[in-house]
Amino acid sequence: MTITAETREWVRQRANYACEFCGVTETDAGGELTIDHFRPITKGGDDGPENLLYRCHRCNQYKLDYWSSHHDEPSLWNPRREPAAQHFLPLDDGTLHP
Ligand SMILES: [Zn+2]
Repeated sequence: MTITAETREWVRQRANYACEFCGVTETDAGGELTIDHFRPITKGGDDGPENLLYRCHRCNQYKLDYWSSHHDEPSLWNPRREPAAQHFLPLDDGTLHP
């Protein structure tokens, strides 16, 4: 499967050219970010638009191909389906605690 140039551009526009996880923009990063499979291909994901997220390199490296396969493993936050407050607790120092 391949992500077409049209799909890539559509995902970028949908994300307003910013990482859907941390908000870093293409301007902040100095170039385009990456298209990520929310559910990795190796874990049964596909190239459909609902499975594609726009993500900065740092967020993408942090996630890698994680996908919870056990009920006791933490699930991933999908920024287009769930509010951040459902997965993160803002701390007094401005960081987020998972
Ligand atoms: Zn990010």
